Amino acid sequence: MSEIALVTGASKGIGASIALQLAADGYDIWLNYRSDDAGAQATAVEIKKKGQECTLLKFDVTDEEAVENTLSPLLEKNVPFIVVNNAGFARDSIMMMMSSGDWSKVLDVHLNGFFHVTKPVISKMLRKRKGRIINIASTSGETGVAGQTNYSAAKAGLIGATRSLAVEVAKRNILVNAVTPGFIETDMVNDLPVEEIKQQIPLKRLGSPEEVAGVVSFLCSDKASYITGQVLAVNGGIHT
Ligand code: NAP
Repeated sequence: MSEIALVTGASKGIGASIALQLAADGYDIWLNYRSDDAGAQATAVEIKKKGQECTLLKFDVTDEEAVENTLSPLLEKNVPFIVVNNAGFARDSIMMMMSSGDWSKVLDVHLNGFFHVTKPVISKMLRKRKGRIINIASTSGETGVAGQTNYSAAKAGLIGATRSLAVEVAKRNILVNAVTPGFIETDMVNDLPVEEIKQQIPLKRLGSPEEVAGVVSFLCSDKASYITGQVLAVNGGIHT
């Protein structure tokens, strides 16, 4: 039986690419998403074509009870080797115009989402004495971006959580790292001035979801067995 990778927010974009890459690496996938049934099912079909199993887990990572109700019965039988906390979104506006709702929602999905999903799995991983946690943060959590005080705060917080959790669980052989994508071609960048942005990126192009997935794959592999508490940037050379 294959080991399992739980990937949140994997109905599309970076999460779907990570799920596909980890399936190609030989993992069965527990695929979380919130609303895009068609996207999740299409990703599941591609995973199965790679010869791996895919279990669709539809829940909102901000809903602690829903996460608990879905994961608890599964965790009685199996413990994922990998958790990728990827689910997320941005609600950009300058601070002066930002609603408290947009402030809270963005912190909720990235920080509480990480906590709700990781906590029940890590307690089981600790007994198994092995596991990998990968948190998808952002360049925005490493450097200032106008219009993203909520998103930057959330992603910087996720980087802090990554470092502390890495120290807590290292003695049980669980490795915890963050990946910080720059501008990646997904729905999330649809409304941004892409041509202008490209000029600010040393590689002069956006990244692809597959380029982020490749780094996650590396961090989950034996090749990365001495890497923990680190933040790996996948940003085309943007200086942070
Ligand atoms: P995307 O294409 O919009 O996909 C977002 C995914 O997250 C979807 O599967 C969505 O599910 C899921 N999701 C959103 N809220 C959720 C919730 N509350 N519970 C469960 N699932 C939820 O975005 P993306 O660009 O791939 O972004 C993925 C991650 O990378 C995010 O954490 C984002 O902050 C980070 N990131 C992206 C970029 C970029 O340039 N694209 C750069 C840096 C970091 P449904 O569609 O099913 O609702």
